[in-house]
Amino acid sequence: MNPISIAIHGGAGTLVKGQMTSEKEVAYKNALDMALETGYAMLHEGGTAVDAVEVAVRSLEDSPLFNAGKGAVFTAEGTHEMDAAIMEGKDRKAGAVSLVTGIKNPIALARDVMNKSEHVFLAGEGAMQFAKKLGYTLEPLSYFYDALRYQQWQEIKGTDGFQLDHSLKRDSKFGTVGAVACDKDGTVAAATSTGGMTNKKWGRVGDSPMIGAGNYANNKTCAVSCTGSGEFFIRGVVAYDVSCLMEYKGYSLEKAASEVIRNRLGELGGDGGLIAVDAKGNIAMPFNTEGMYRGCKTSEGRKEVLIYND
Ligand code: ASP
Repeated sequence: MNPISIAIHGGAGTLVKGQMTSEKEVAYKNALDMALETGYAMLHEGGTAVDAVEVAVRSLEDSPLFNAGKGAVFTAEGTHEMDAAIMEGKDRKAGAVSLVTGIKNPIALARDVMNKSEHVFLAGEGAMQFAKKLGYTLEPLSYFYDALRYQQWQEIKGTDGFQLDHSLKRDSKFGTVGAVACDKDGTVAAATSTGGMTNKKWGRVGDSPMIGAGNYANNKTCAVSCTGSGEFFIRGVVAYDVSCLMEYKGYSLEKAASEVIRNRLGELGGDGGLIAVDAKGNIAMPFNTEGMYRGCKTSEGRKEVLIYND
């Protein structure tokens, strides 16, 4: 049996160390730990990597601490437009949604796009019609409300500014969420879900739902979920780049992930991080920001739930 392993993230735009109180730290770590253990239990009970990444991401979407599902950031119109993607590495099947509103767990809808449609990526009104056809009920705006997100929006509402999860103003809590896993058959999968960035408009879509940019999985190489300044991750095709370095240059997971985040993304001027797993269950979690909410657990006995570089 292949070793099993899972890694999760709750965004690379953490609270700066000075602003992190011990109560907040406990709350973040508890939420991460719950998602991690939920995903790991799924693998441990024989579930697939896709099952594991979906349940882990659902758990993070249900927490208001992270910028996905409940607690998603506000758009310029005061709504929430969410993006999500899921991919499995055996057949390289993928599903993604973008600009969806009122959906409690966008990652579940992305999985339905993968399994129940002929398509890979559905956006906006069409994605909503698809959800309706499948019987999804919509949550009211109040379900997604979070006081701090609202305050962040008020600060830039009515301006052309937007608040990226990983901008210079790092005293804010943010956090796209993601999970990567390797199951007992050596299949890998990745899932990513986000509310994008505060005050976004014009149908802005980040890297998270884009296959190859913020999310990718291939059994030959690895599964990757990214978090960071989405525009740079799109231009750097970051998740696929990690896979390419492994496939074409023979890099290890650790070397490929680190090269992409520390050198290639940095050259473009982007900031953020990623989590990645290969088909042997190895895990890498590099980032070039002050911290990244993250955790991992493997059947080889590794377990971590971390925020900063410690
Ligand atoms: N990558 C996400 C986006 O640009 C943001 C994040 O990672 O927090 O939409």
